[in-house]
Amino acid sequence: MRLSRYFLPILKEAPKEAEIVSHRLMLRAGMMRQQNAGIYSWLPLGLKVLKKIEAVVREEQDRSGAVEILMPSIQPADLWRESGRYDAYGKEMLRIVDRHEREMLYGPTAEEVVTDIFRTYVRSYRDLPLNLYNIQWKFRDEVRPRFGVMRGREFLMKDAYSFDVDQAGALRAYHKMFVAYLRTYKRLGLTAIPMRADTGPIGGKLSHEFIILASTGESAVFCDKDLLDLPVPGEDVDFEGDLSPVVDMFTSRYAATDEMHDEAAFAALPEERRVSARGIEVGHIFSFGTKYSEPMGAKVAMPDGSEQPVIMGSYGIGVSRLIGAIIEASHDDAGIIWPESVAPFGAGVISLRPDDAAVTAACEDAYAKLSAAGKDPLYDDTAARPGAKFASMDLIGLPWQIIIGPKGLADGVVELKRRATGDKELVSLESAIARVTEKA
Ligand code: ATP
Ligand code: MG
Repeated sequence: MRLSRYFLPILKEAPKEAEIVSHRLMLRAGMMRQQNAGIYSWLPLGLKVLKKIEAVVREEQDRSGAVEILMPSIQPADLWRESGRYDAYGKEMLRIVDRHEREMLYGPTAEEVVTDIFRTYVRSYRDLPLNLYNIQWKFRDEVRPRFGVMRGREFLMKDAYSFDVDQAGALRAYHKMFVAYLRTYKRLGLTAIPMRADTGPIGGKLSHEFIILASTGESAVFCDKDLLDLPVPGEDVDFEGDLSPVVDMFTSRYAATDEMHDEAAFAALPEERRVSARGIEVGHIFSFGTKYSEPMGAKVAMPDGSEQPVIMGSYGIGVSRLIGAIIEASHDDAGIIWPESVAPFGAGVISLRPDDAAVTAACEDAYAKLSAAGKDPLYDDTAARPGAKFASMDLIGLPWQIIIGPKGLADGVVELKRRATGDKELVSLESAIARVTEKA
């Protein structure tokens, strides 16, 4: 992308309503624009990152065996009456009436819709296990939307729903999602700690929240320091095999949110292993048995001919919240530092003199080669001052910058800068391109 043709509305100052660093940086970097409390337009840079996170989440859901669908954002109130949640949900649910006076709502989650799909099509134990997921906008009329995408009213969520014939199957489904989540966060450059959690209005017994430690997090959390660097399974993990050793490695160590905190159990840990911190919830998984299948009549025929309500679980990831969480975990005074996996562009090419023919030729060459290598570069070909170009490039946090000017070119070199470390090197254009395109 040539910056002169792009839409990157960078702000010098962060608007004062932005209280935390990720919110300030997202606004300054022109990633999004608030249209209403907790409701955003996604601008090109923000949209690119959102799509990249979504792609990682999707790949790991697919790898675990879940199957993608897309459910509507507007749902009928009647389905929620069947589960008994329509009245119980309260003011967080945005209720709508259509022109025929039919009651609808903007879905805050989708247990009812997916249970309706299940009961319509699935009849037999032979069709199980099944896990259906979607990545769809949700709406919750939060009392206090704040911190930008961290607590929005409209936000993007991945929500998966598992269906099994028995508890053993349901536990396997839970373990698959548990491991898929560990892999997802790891690929996003994050250390997420699974913590025992309260099940709240979704119901059920088994539940974990996946938490990123950050001083700006909304919840108080307590955990064993060992959890900060346990190994996460690689790509070759066998989702059909026994995942309980991996899950046990995490769940056998102390970790809980404040609602579930057990002071005595925590105090039993050696002092140097006790981590008491704040955290951002980036995912939440539940196993809740027949809470929805029973009232909504989602049953399967068993081998002995009897019919039995199916056992369910639900598994959410806050896709849009993750952008904020990644920035909280990875930034410096100059701006964002994107992990490679979600960087909106793979590299920046900065022309220090767009009016110089040799500089422009070198920049075009770099731009063409990086594009051909799939690095999706952002080429700053504008007439802005070099200082402003450096500041913008640091702010938007691309992993690499190749800075090209007439003096260097006369000596046969360009400057290669690594955003994460700030390291700069003078190298030939060819070796700069080779460094940026080599496999990590
Ligand atoms: P919270 O405790 O933060 O209000 P929740 O427990 O109500 O969240 P879940 O129903 O578990 O949320 O939703 C699954 C995931 O969706 C959460 O783990 C979180 O990452 C994300 N999420 C929930 N509410 C919001 C919101 N208002 N804005 C952005 N993301 C959200
Ligand atoms: Mg939750």
